[in-house]
Amino acid sequence: MMDLHCHIDLYPDPQAVIDECIQNRLYVLSVTTTPKAWHGTYALTSKLPRFNTSLGLHPQLAHQRLHELPLFDSLVSETRFIGEIGLDGTKNHAPYMESQLEAFQHILKKCQEYDNKIMTIHTLSAVTSVLDELEKHPGAGVPILHWFLGTKKELTRAISLGCYFSIGPAMTVSKRGKKVIEWIPRDRILIETDGPFAALEGVSLKPIDSYRVCDYLAGQWQTDLDYLFSVLKTNLRNVLA
Ligand SMILES: [Zn+2]
Repeated sequence: MMDLHCHIDLYPDPQAVIDECIQNRLYVLSVTTTPKAWHGTYALTSKLPRFNTSLGLHPQLAHQRLHELPLFDSLVSETRFIGEIGLDGTKNHAPYMESQLEAFQHILKKCQEYDNKIMTIHTLSAVTSVLDELEKHPGAGVPILHWFLGTKKELTRAISLGCYFSIGPAMTVSKRGKKVIEWIPRDRILIETDGPFAALEGVSLKPIDSYRVCDYLAGQWQTDLDYLFSVLKTNLRNVLA
């Protein structure tokens, strides 16, 4: 199984979470929120084959961290994985949209120089703006929209732009999330948890909770888990190709 969006460095005991992932043979994308966090977070799992670490600048932090963009540039060749990046249009963050756009556009432009990046992207209340930027920056990489809650029209546009969608346990218990999951084509689905930020029943999610999404999907698709795993494995392979 896999967790394509998880903040390993932010758990109270990262090593315990990592050990659990190893025991369960999970593939994990360990996401960072600032370029400054890269070295420390990468060091946690750099020797482990089924872990990758992504270099990011979270849209909610962009206005405080624009000065870290040169650091981003100096690190960008160290990993194929980029994130968490994106835009956030919710009430508390919309006032900083200009800084968010500056960071996001800068990062997409940088990634265009490589043409092989894989990006995990935050789109909360800003889906159309994110898609506009992806369209303006072709070749920046494979976009994985994490915790996508857009409209059906936005989803169709995202698919045409080559986006994948990582869905987490929290989406399987919200009305909106369930609707979106129904719309996503099977060949574009990946699994995430967004732990420890995301929680269910008051408990922070861990990568192992990605199995909860599998149980949910198998029920929805009325298939067995083996079939589901083979679909997800193929999708992940296509992203990493
Ligand atoms: Zn996140």
